[in-house]
Amino acid sequence: MHKDTDAQELLHVGQMSSRKGSATSQGNGLSSSSRDGDDLELAELGPLLEGKGAQGASGSASAKEQPCTAPQEEEEEEEVVRVLTLPLQAHHAMEKMEEFVYKVWEGRWRVIPYDVLPDWLKDNDYLLHGHRPPMPSFRACFKSIFRIHTETGNIWTHLLGFVLFLFLGILTMLRPNMYFMAPLQEKVVFGMFFLGAVLCLSFSWLFHTVYCHSEKVSRTFSKLDYSGIALLIMGSFVPWLYYSFYCSPQPRLIYLSIVCVLGISAIIVAQWDRFATPKHRQTRAGVFLGLGLSGVVPTMHFTIAEGFVKATTVGQMGWFFLMAVMYITGAGLYAARIPERFFPGKFDIWFQSHQIFHVLVVAAAFVHFYGVSNLQEFRYGLEGGCTDDSLL
Ligand SMILES: [Zn+2]
Repeated sequence: MHKDTDAQELLHVGQMSSRKGSATSQGNGLSSSSRDGDDLELAELGPLLEGKGAQGASGSASAKEQPCTAPQEEEEEEEVVRVLTLPLQAHHAMEKMEEFVYKVWEGRWRVIPYDVLPDWLKDNDYLLHGHRPPMPSFRACFKSIFRIHTETGNIWTHLLGFVLFLFLGILTMLRPNMYFMAPLQEKVVFGMFFLGAVLCLSFSWLFHTVYCHSEKVSRTFSKLDYSGIALLIMGSFVPWLYYSFYCSPQPRLIYLSIVCVLGISAIIVAQWDRFATPKHRQTRAGVFLGLGLSGVVPTMHFTIAEGFVKATTVGQMGWFFLMAVMYITGAGLYAARIPERFFPGKFDIWFQSHQIFHVLVVAAAFVHFYGVSNLQEFRYGLEGGCTDDSLL
């Protein structure tokens, strides 16, 4: 509220000075010619602002000024004198900046084409239009969640995924202890998976939301976003290894340690500034694909020890295979930027590769949760006994 008043005052001062040529007018609000002047100045800000928005602001300000009395006119004159003492050029720049901040604050910006984006916002040159302009205001970024632009689909796919996994996680944690053999241990194990999923999805929707804030903010959040993917993969391994190698604590510990080392390495690599650049799109897909595919070794171990039939039935390998196919397809589409590379400009808003990748990540994590839940149920059915001669 306080800031709103501040912004209005800024705008008011700005308009006073833009009226300096006609300061003697009888206070009937802005004349149409000075309004045109405002628009002209706003036009210099490039394609960032909406024309009708500018007029709207002038209109509302003029409505407030209408009951103008003599003392107010004196105040206005004083203000004009004060404003004229400023160096004119610097003042003009300030004025434009104030107007721009006010417009962004009010959410009156419009989408811009790829060509006019600053370098730090240029990521996918197959998305030709519909980009948000740089908006150094968190409030404006968060309000843009409800607007249509290139990131709308990316934000919502993982925002809804985040809500889904938060809900599933809470349900699992609140499940009565009688459904577990070792409730505390098993809830910690499931908790690791949900923590990974919730962190990954929330870092992701937050990154896509504040991506247009500024170079520094976008860089910081992109690192969190990539680290989140590593956390999701690490967290997914925990319950799977726990139940698949239920009666073999030694290989379980070894595989768990290896995936932790690999995951932390991926997080360290993600802190490298150039990791996020378009040039390293394939590197990124490769790092996370490699981390996920490290699961091939324990899968082979399980399949060789238990046989193909047990691996697909008891071991739920069908579900984990489906999960892997989804992740790999997602990473492939992401790296190759399919479908937009074949139809540039046709997938600017909906069905671009990044959105498909997001949906596949959420679906794969859900399939993984389903497979792990079946593993948990199976071990519960055995009453946690490790007497079965061949089962790991
Ligand atoms: Zn993303």
